[in-house]
Formats: sequence, structure tokens, C-alpha cells
Amino acid sequence: MTNSNANFDYPDNILATLPNLAVSIKGLNKTYFGQNGQPSKIALNSVDIAIPRGRFFGLLGPNGAGKSTIINIMAGLVSKTSGEVRVWGFDIEKDERRARCAIGVVPQELNLDPFFTPREILEVQAGLYGLRKKERRTEEILETVGLIEKADSFSRALSGGMRRRLLIAKAMVHSPPVLVLDEPTAGVDVELRQTLWKSIRKLNQMGTTVLLTTHYLEEAEELCDSIAIIDSGRVVACDTTEALLKKVDNKTVVLILSKPIETIPEQMKQFNPVQSSPNELRITYRQSSHVITDIISEVQSSGLSIIDLITEEVELEDIFMQLTGSKNKGE
Ligand code: ADP
Ligand code: MG
Repeated sequence: MTNSNANFDYPDNILATLPNLAVSIKGLNKTYFGQNGQPSKIALNSVDIAIPRGRFFGLLGPNGAGKSTIINIMAGLVSKTSGEVRVWGFDIEKDERRARCAIGVVPQELNLDPFFTPREILEVQAGLYGLRKKERRTEEILETVGLIEKADSFSRALSGGMRRRLLIAKAMVHSPPVLVLDEPTAGVDVELRQTLWKSIRKLNQMGTTVLLTTHYLEEAEELCDSIAIIDSGRVVACDTTEALLKKVDNKTVVLILSKPIETIPEQMKQFNPVQSSPNELRITYRQSSHVITDIISEVQSSGLSIIDLITEEVELEDIFMQLTGSKNKGE
């Protein structure tokens, strides 16, 4: 797919004004070299991302866009082809140990030992990080993710949602300032999704910078204060969620008329209205070419009167389609 980068303004100003970034990725490239006659695959192409500390940042893109590749490179699980990646200011190659300590990663798969309890799992993990007993925060972390009551149950007895929260707890054991979650709610039902969101939000409110990948548009829109949209290994947008939504040029308004109409007045036809019910006209217009008052005055001068007006919320889906030229392929 070809993308226009016209809408993508990489926040250089953020880099200049906020040197203390949680994550900075510059010119990151990754090619998976094919083995046994398999073709090579360019998974990342000059990716630039800057995440200020404290943010709730979403990496949004369809399946195969390159999200896990970025996360796995940050976590030291996949080697990059070229470019620079820093976590909490530490270069993942030159300062590998400190970069690793600054990040907690929640993988997509539920890989937990079924015969350990949440408390034991966190204690073992703390041991792996060399934390002394008095440095450990097992109780507090279990409390934060809502698992204190299950602290001593075998993990095999936990529901899918609880296991995922346990994985989040495990990633938080060494108190990393950056928590990274790869598709935390893929395949999780709506109710569990809400509980998970609550736990992750809480961690963010307590000061952790959160980076989450998702292919669910509504998840990114609901949770994240900033979003990078990636498609075929390229960043096609990177901004605050609010600013991204403002970039959507199309807007829809529904006009409720005082009485039913049989035909649409000639002078209204320039706006391509759709009569959604006998007394309702639905108009989608470009904000760059019309303002709502033009439409309203045209309606009134054609002899109709409006009793109500509903503007439809712009959704991330609109910007996603505008930028990638496609419906969300991940759904
Ligand atoms: P996402 O997480 O956004 O779904 P990935 O980062 O997993 O995307 O994959 C990006 C691209 O790289 C995809 O085309 C995928 O097939 C390819 N890819 C991922 N891992 C490997 C690998 N180990 N070897 C070869 N190609 C891979
Ligand atoms: Mg993935």
C-alpha cells in the first residue's frame, strides 16, 4: 500500500523541548532476512517515534504493520537492522542493561507456569531482577492489578483476564518507568477488557509511561492520549489523540426539520444531503470547504426550518481510513 506522509508531522518540537523522553526511536529499520529460500521482509522503514514521559501512548496499526517488531526491538528480543532506540534515555545497545531495567514488557501470549501462584510468580521474577526482600512490592502490585484475593491460587485456576493482569504485574516487579503491552486485549471479551483498561489506566495515573499496541481503533481512542499510526512498517501519523481527531476533514451533521419534506430543495443539492427519514437530512461536508453556518442559512433560505441539529463525533476510524486508505484490516 502507498501512503502519503503529508499528514505526518513528526514532533521534532517535542524532541527539542522535552529532552527527557520515555522512549525515542529514530530512523529505525528492520529487515527480516529470509531463510531457506524465503524472501526477505522489510518490517520497519525509517520509523521515528518520540514518547514523552508519563504518556499513555498507542501504537495503532493493522496486523502485520510492524508493531510487535518495534516492541520486541525495544525489549531486546529482536535485533534491529539500523537506527537508534532509547528507553528512558538509555541506548538499547550501548547501555543495554539500564535500558532493560527501564522497561517492563507484557507479551501477547499467556505464558505462565500453571503450578505457581501469583505471589510466587512475582517473587521469582523479583529474584531474577536481584531485588532484595525489602525492595519487593509484591503485595502492592497485586493490589494495583486487582489480584490480591487470588495471591495464593494456582495460576491455572485464574481466568484469562486475571492471567493477563498477572502478566502486567510480572512486568511491573522491577518498577520500570515504562510499561509496554503488546495487544493486551486481543481476543479478550468486552467485560474483561474494561477491567484490564482500569488496571493499566491506574498504573499510568500512578506515573508509569504506558506504550500499548493495538489493532482496535476504539481501544486506542478510549485509552491513549497520543497515538502513532503505523502501516506497512511506516509511521503515517503521530500526534496527540485530540490533534489527530482534529485532522479529520469530513464532518457529518443531521438536521431535524420541523416537518417532513417530499423533495430536497434544489439549492440544498450542492451539499449532497441524504434524507435519512421524512424530516431528517444527513449531510457530510468537508470542513475545509464549508462551515456549518453556510449549510444552515441555505436550509433556511430554501424555506425549511430546523428544530434540532446533531453533529456526529469524528472517530479515529475516519483518520485511519484517510491516512491508510483502508478500513482497519485487523478487524
Ligand atoms: P504486527 O505486530 O503489527 O502485527 P509484526 O511486527 O509482527 O506486525 O510483523 C511485521 C511484518 O514482519 C509482517 O509482515 C510479518 O509477517 C513480518 N515478520 C514478523 N516476524 C518475522 C520473522 N521472525 N521472520 C520474518 N518475517 C517476520
Ligand atoms: Mg503483533
